[in-house]
Amino acid sequence: MARKRVVILGCTGSIGTSAIKVARDIADRMEVVGLAAGRNADLLIEQAREFQPSLISIHDPADAEKVRAHVPAGTRVVSGLEGLVELATMPEADMVLISIVGTAGLKPALAAIEAGKDIAVASKEILVMAGEEVMEQARKKGIKVLPVDSEHNAVFQCLEGQNPEHVRRVLLTASGGPFRQTPVSEFPNLTKAQALKHPTWEMGRKITIDSSTLFNKGLEMIEAKWLFGIPMSKVEVVVHPQSVVHSMVEFVDHSILAQLSKTDMCFPIQYAVTYPDRLPNRLEPVDFAKLGTLTFEAPDPVKFPALRLAREAGEKCGTLPAVLNAANEIAVDLFLNDRVGFPSIWGIVEETMLAHTNTTTPTLDCILDADTWARAKAAEFAKAHLIS
Ligand code: NDP
Repeated sequence: MARKRVVILGCTGSIGTSAIKVARDIADRMEVVGLAAGRNADLLIEQAREFQPSLISIHDPADAEKVRAHVPAGTRVVSGLEGLVELATMPEADMVLISIVGTAGLKPALAAIEAGKDIAVASKEILVMAGEEVMEQARKKGIKVLPVDSEHNAVFQCLEGQNPEHVRRVLLTASGGPFRQTPVSEFPNLTKAQALKHPTWEMGRKITIDSSTLFNKGLEMIEAKWLFGIPMSKVEVVVHPQSVVHSMVEFVDHSILAQLSKTDMCFPIQYAVTYPDRLPNRLEPVDFAKLGTLTFEAPDPVKFPALRLAREAGEKCGTLPAVLNAANEIAVDLFLNDRVGFPSIWGIVEETMLAHTNTTTPTLDCILDADTWARAKAAEFAKAHLIS
């Protein structure tokens, strides 16, 4: 079978470097034809030397100068949003992996779809913000949207060959994050160092904080709605601290299918690249005897208001999910810079959502405006939360 020619947007991050590992592991089935980084010029240069892609991109044009001097002669270096769009639409690419943190991947994702490329989506924020638009454009163009988020990749696998009308509910599993057992009275004093210690996954900083507030799961609920075309009422969350069951689907006959594997993002990335094929790899298998116990519990809605806020945004739709997402990005950034406390993250998000007048059938421009509005509004509300 031919090699899949893949562009990796966000190649220097946690997902990007896992995708690089997959490309090494299944080199006869995956070819890296393009790479895009944010600021990490050194790692981009290293990757470009190893894979010799014809096109690479780095966010800042000044960094592009530096990179140019160190990459193979056949590798062209571009920069900025135009660079990302050029990569996403490369004629020689079959698939674009969107793994840029936040919403910067939205325009390149839409450009890739327009150019007829399949997209593999790790950046859940773009589906939360504009899932309807992304899925609609993908349908029109007849391209595949392959979920890389481990939960959605699991659901995707469970749904294969099933009649969507037979789905009773989708059960997204959540590790519960580092504060699952922390009393809520301690929340105001929690530090970013504590929040960045995820019990089961190693990920980028933004998603790790989102996992500690459960906003990550909230974003995933909305992501599931768009990816699988199901109402929010059918999307549920169950806490599963071992992170071995990556998610489940219950059907109308109360039978449940689940997907299991070790906690390694190489699993969903590989499946997105090789779908619908399965390929042997060097990844570690699950040893049930060693594992012993798998446990499940209900999430605590009082400790983690993020789930309620995300359900509300996903049910009301329109511009509200974009507002939730943007306000959360601002609040997480402030928390990571020690400017606000842990509970302020959802405080700022809720205040911004309450202040928003929802547009129920928005255009893409309207969504982008709501995103800009929410960032400014969240920054304004954050003033009352600042740690002096
Ligand atoms: P990281 O912070 O580790 O990596 C982010 C990547 O985005 C880096 O390569 C960074 O470049 C790049 N980047 C940031 N801004 C730009 C820009 N303007 N132009 C080009 N590249 C840019 O994040 P993760 O890999 O953890 O997460 C990426 C996405 O995947 C997120 O949306 C997250 O929610 C999702 N995801 C992540 C999972 C994980 O296990 N990590 C699991 C499921 C989903 P640089 O480092 O060079 O600055």
